[in-house]
Amino acid sequence: MSFDTLGLSPDILSAVTSKGYTTPSPIQAKAIPVVLQGKDVLAAAQTGTGKTAGFVLPILQLLSGGQPAKPNKARVLILTPTRELAAQVYDNVQMYGAKLPLKANVVFGGVKINPQMMKLRKGTDVLVATPGRLLDLIKQNALSLNELEILVLDEADRMLDMGFIHDIKRIIKMLPPRRQTLLFSATFSADIRKLAKQLVKDPVEISA
Ligand code: AMP
Repeated sequence: MSFDTLGLSPDILSAVTSKGYTTPSPIQAKAIPVVLQGKDVLAAAQTGTGKTAGFVLPILQLLSGGQPAKPNKARVLILTPTRELAAQVYDNVQMYGAKLPLKANVVFGGVKINPQMMKLRKGTDVLVATPGRLLDLIKQNALSLNELEILVLDEADRMLDMGFIHDIKRIIKMLPPRRQTLLFSATFSADIRKLAKQLVKDPVEISA
């Protein structure tokens, strides 16, 4: 199996080969074509399976076709449970998207909010965020999600374990109903399934 057969564009493929990857991981081989088709996804995948590239690569490609981000809006939101994971996912977005004309930002709590507000002014194609700080920024009118195209919940089970369910529900209410949603979780408990029901439409289910 090679990356060439998954439907990725030359720009994205060159980012993959420059990392030295030769073969897509199982989750990448399953997720990339489905995400490129614009479908919702429920994916069971642990850290270390290559799940991040599994959603970042096709998302970057989908974004490349559309209109640039407007001030104080985001086109893609990737929600993560911790700031460490947010920083890591953001690094991946920067790395794979280095040659693309896309703006990425990362926001999380525990640091000053003002620099984050300033960066959001210019518009964000890909925003990586933890839930609490995201809600603060929305409350302060630094960000609107009413034109969001794609939502990703990364490590959804950890987000529930950490008590983010109310934050997530508040965020979901602000999103346009017509959007693509990807939910990644290591486990699929009853609670995750319940959350997924409110989030995804006719999802394709995959596992690593
Ligand atoms: P993740 O599960 O997304 O945290 O990725 C785990 C690690 O695997 C990261 O260090 C990636 O850089 C690496 N990785 C992702 N995809 C591939 C691939 N197709 N081939 C080799 N390494 C990869």
